[in-house]
Amino acid sequence: MSADQGAGHGAGHEAGHGAGHEAGLLVVGSVNADLVVRVPRHPRPGETVLGGDLAVHPGGKGANQAVAAARLGAQVAFAGRVGSDAHGSMLVDGLRRDGVDVSLVGTEPGPSGVALITVDGRGENAITVSPGANGRLGPDAAEALEPALRAAAVVSLQLEIPHETVAEIMRRCGRAGTRVVLNLSPGPWAAPTDVWRLCDPLVVNEHEALDAAARPGDGTAESALAPVDRARRIMRGTHAVDARPRSLVLTLGAAGAICIDGDGEPAHVPAPAVEAVDTTGAGDAFTGALAWRLACGDSLLDAVRYAVRAGAAAVTAEGAQPSYPTPDRLPLL
Ligand code: ADP
Repeated sequence: MSADQGAGHGAGHEAGHGAGHEAGLLVVGSVNADLVVRVPRHPRPGETVLGGDLAVHPGGKGANQAVAAARLGAQVAFAGRVGSDAHGSMLVDGLRRDGVDVSLVGTEPGPSGVALITVDGRGENAITVSPGANGRLGPDAAEALEPALRAAAVVSLQLEIPHETVAEIMRRCGRAGTRVVLNLSPGPWAAPTDVWRLCDPLVVNEHEALDAAARPGDGTAESALAPVDRARRIMRGTHAVDARPRSLVLTLGAAGAICIDGDGEPAHVPAPAVEAVDTTGAGDAFTGALAWRLACGDSLLDAVRYAVRAGAAAVTAEGAQPSYPTPDRLPLL
């Protein structure tokens, strides 16, 4: 990666900036209010612990991806559901302020999705998610999204909405010829074979790769496999013989990511060396950036080279969305 690209002036990395280029990324997924309290230590069952002031941040894997892409200059729309409570309007306003097209966000009666997060003195998180309106984004919503699914260059999904909805949207994308990025998070999900085969790429972190690489009954301990072998195994087909994604990205935290495109050899892309402050939401920043670059026409390898920089930037500051970079804040590879 050249220095000028690192400064955000690289040819081909500015497609979303006023050049009239419609990159056409649609993120379908979750949007949550993250309610965060710092505590000296996590309470045991039945115990009460006094914590600090409540902080409310916009979150949810889908919204995070959309915001990460928008910050980098993407033309991005988000489709999801918020509740009729105060969090709902706060969350939609936040997405809009970041330049995300929110015309496909619906409001359901009842509460929005919420993540109750306590962070202890060692920086360890304990998180309870209440899906709220996200859980009511049913497969029947897919039909109304059909024109947007057809118009998008790339549709990006994660697993904080009902799995049947993810499957239905992916199948529609498959019929329309729209590329699908699936982040298997939170996993696991042994998706139907036809759905698995639409992933281009399937994006997993090391933890999710363990589940995705598990092949019941063959006696090999997946945890004993090196990440590259785990990646190869997922590409060969796991929970069903022909359940092979079209391509795969396995993220490795500070060690970057491995990608495999079709029948190609695995490629390892190191992450830029940064001082990690808080890794919350790094995977969402990575995937949002990746999906956008694919929508702009990058090869998988080039998109991963860009995404590791977005992921690295996201760990250099507290929180998820507050840490997401603009192009001038992307570290060099
Ligand atoms: P998740 O957040 O889903 O657990 P990872 O921890 O693998 O996923 O992080 C996703 C991406 O974020 C990595 O591929 C890398 O690009 C970046 N990243 C994460 N942690 C670091 C780190 N400590 N230093 C540099 N980059 C990091």
